[in-house]
Amino acid sequence: MEQYRMYIDGQFVDAESGETRASMNPATEEPVALAPVGTRGDMKRAIEAARRAFDSGVWSGMPVGERAQLIYKLVEKINDMDMTRKLGTIETQDAGFTISLSTGGEVPFTAYWMEKAARTAECLSSYEPLPWHDFPDVSWSFVNREPIGVCGGIIPWNHPFMMAGWKLGPALVMGCTVVLKPASETPLAALELAKLIDECGFPPGVVNIVTGPGSSLGEELCTHPFVDKVALTGSTEVGRQVMKMASSTLKKVTLELGGKSAQIIMPDADLEVAVEGSLSGVFYHTGQVCVSGTRIFVHEDIYDEYLESAIAATQTVRIGDPMDFETTMGPLISRGQQETVLRYIEIGKKEGATVATGGKKPDHLKKGFFVEPTIFTNVHNGMTIAQEEIFGPVVCIIKFRTVDEAVAMANDSIYGLGGAVWSRNIPEAIEIAKRVRTGTMWINTYHQLSPMAPFGGYKQSGIGREHGVQGLLEFTQAKHILVDLGTPLANRLLHTYVFSK
Ligand code: NAP
Ligand code: MG
Repeated sequence: MEQYRMYIDGQFVDAESGETRASMNPATEEPVALAPVGTRGDMKRAIEAARRAFDSGVWSGMPVGERAQLIYKLVEKINDMDMTRKLGTIETQDAGFTISLSTGGEVPFTAYWMEKAARTAECLSSYEPLPWHDFPDVSWSFVNREPIGVCGGIIPWNHPFMMAGWKLGPALVMGCTVVLKPASETPLAALELAKLIDECGFPPGVVNIVTGPGSSLGEELCTHPFVDKVALTGSTEVGRQVMKMASSTLKKVTLELGGKSAQIIMPDADLEVAVEGSLSGVFYHTGQVCVSGTRIFVHEDIYDEYLESAIAATQTVRIGDPMDFETTMGPLISRGQQETVLRYIEIGKKEGATVATGGKKPDHLKKGFFVEPTIFTNVHNGMTIAQEEIFGPVVCIIKFRTVDEAVAMANDSIYGLGGAVWSRNIPEAIEIAKRVRTGTMWINTYHQLSPMAPFGGYKQSGIGREHGVQGLLEFTQAKHILVDLGTPLANRLLHTYVFSK
């Protein structure tokens, strides 16, 4: 079995304890490869290396175009067909993606997002003129955009490769150095990426990848005084802890957390498109997606028709071996996650909701952490299954009468990450989209994100934005520089407050 090593200060290393952990294939319940269980000591070494690399100026002082070139080189390596296949297979075996999604989506999309981050950064200027200046003196005043420093990236198991790319691409091109902590369930994709990063020739310490438990390594990263910013993608609960820990040294945090997003299906929607589209918004990657549209509000005039088609469509989902290109739904990540999803299904039934289809482990799959795609009806928005993030292929379908009622239910959630409106009336759909308090709203589609658009959450779905210009600027500090251009001594107002004449 392959034994991976961590990447610290430009070197591939074992954990200082020598300890490793077998990463599991969630479809076969068999080990895939061994990954190091890093210690606090390992994490400290990575942070120190990132600090040295940043402070030396070797990376932060490099022109953005040169940093971008290294990222394009990395992108090219990922896009090599054999490499895409290799990375996709790792993603399928370690994280349960269907092979069509990992090789056709996750891996090439990650390369695309990194490339676009670099291209966008190349268009930005570190020099930002001020729009006006109101002092009665003669001066030149501007903002210098500077990299924020050493960034910690903590990522979840649901999109291991993409999340690594999302954290590394923007931070690196903006001149930061990074310590990345992959999820313990899925360390392999990031460690494989480290090999390509090493081949590209990034200066030592610019990228560091440390695997091991979030509790200790995450705490080290969030409290270490050498770290300037922590970017977490993960659960809302861990987000709270990260924010608390980061407060001890007042680090900047960006948090991409959980969701319980709403889809509103209007009576004039193209029903065929809306049924498949809204359900893809839930069942994509077995529902293990933060922006999943897991509450579907359907107008009463089309409710029966929608439901009938939705059940029929759900029964065509092909669940099984993710290495088979015909499979459209793979397993959940772990036995724990499978138990959580099945527990929520039981809670739903106990609270009075009805399982319209699915609701259990598939009969034909004896191994692996599978759960059938599941539709709940007779749900009201206050039920546990409509309020808590389940993170599996489970959707609540709820009837509404008026737009006000649909918007009120959509907003009755602690989360605000994604959502959709399905309607032929685009101006009205846009007005509805504006009323939902959430970071991304789609109209007549779902899950289409863009590396050029800001992504993030309202309410307890997060703080800050990733991607687009706004996302890149989150990796910078704004420094104001003011140059006096020769104000005569007699006209220098400040002096009159300090010196008697
Ligand atoms: P998680 O349990 O919050 O873990 C996320 C990461 O945080 C892992 O690397 C984990 O390490 C680490 N971690 C755990 N405890 C920590 C601590 N005390 N301090 C610092 N780091 C710690 O989330 P998950 O179960 O992996 O992923 C699912 C969650 O991520 C869902 O809630 C989903 O909505 C959210 N998500 C959000 C987005 C978004 O962009 N908004 C995208 C994807 C996923 P270990 O693995 O070692 O525990
Ligand atoms: Mg695994």
